[in-house]
Amino acid sequence: MARRKEREMIVEIAALEKSFKIIGANIRSMEHVAAILSKFADKKVDSAGRDEIACQAEFCLFRDKAMKKASFFNGTKIDCHDCYLSMHAVCAGIWRAEEWQLTHDVDQTFSCLKCSGCSGSVSCMKKAMGTIGSLKRREIEEKKEIEQRRREKEEYVTSGPTRSSLEKVWKKYGADVCAFKQTFCGNHVYKLLHTRAINEYMLVFPPTPNRDRIRDLLLALGDVMKLCVSSALTEYEMDELEDGIVIFSS
Ligand SMILES: [Zn+2]
Ligand SMILES: [Zn+2]
Ligand SMILES: [Zn+2]
Repeated sequence: MARRKEREMIVEIAALEKSFKIIGANIRSMEHVAAILSKFADKKVDSAGRDEIACQAEFCLFRDKAMKKASFFNGTKIDCHDCYLSMHAVCAGIWRAEEWQLTHDVDQTFSCLKCSGCSGSVSCMKKAMGTIGSLKRREIEEKKEIEQRRREKEEYVTSGPTRSSLEKVWKKYGADVCAFKQTFCGNHVYKLLHTRAINEYMLVFPPTPNRDRIRDLLLALGDVMKLCVSSALTEYEMDELEDGIVIFSS
C-alpha cells in the first residue's frame, strides 16, 4: 500500500515536471516569435529564411531565419475559418501548447490573427507579448505546485520509516503497537514513559529543539505517573512530583 502511494506520487510529479518543461519550451519559442514580429514592425525581417509563398498570413514568421530557433513550432498548416486563407498555424497565432495540440484535430476550427482582430505587426507583437506573460505566470504556478508535491512526497517517505523505527524501539520496551495485535493498552503507555525508553525512542526523530522539548515533557510526565502509583510519597518523592508537574505544565 505504502509503496503504491509513493509510486503514484512519483508519477504525478513526473507529469507536472513534463508539463513545466513544455511551458518553458513554449515560452522560449514564443520569445523568438515576438522578436520576429517586432522585426516586421521595424521592417528588418531577415529574409534569408524559408521562402514560404504557400503561407497566406499577413506576417509569415518563417520568412525570418530566426524562426528555426523557435523549435516548439513546426510548419503545420491550418485554414482560417473566417477568411479561408491557408497559413502556418504559428503565423495564424496558434501559440499556446494546448491550442497547438488541437492543430492535429481535423474537426477543430481556427481564426487567423487578422480575423481575430490583430491587424498590423505591432498589435500582433503585443499579443505575442501578452501570451508570453500569461505563460510565464503559469510557469511560476506550476513550479510552486511541483515544489509543494515534492515536499509532500518527501514528508510521506520520511514519516513511513520513522514510524517503523519507533515501533521497533517501543516493542523492545514491551509495548507492541503492531496494528494486527490490537492489544495496546494503558500498561503499554506506562512502559513507554520509562526514562530509558523515552531517551531511546526520541532519538528516532531528527534532533531539533522541539524534539528535546517533547522529550522533556515525556520525562516529566513519566515522573508524575511513577509517583502516582505509590500510596504514600516520601518528602523526596513529593519534591520530584512537584518538579515533574512544573516542567509538564510550563
Ligand atoms: Zn507562415
Ligand atoms: Zn531560443
Ligand atoms: Zn483569417
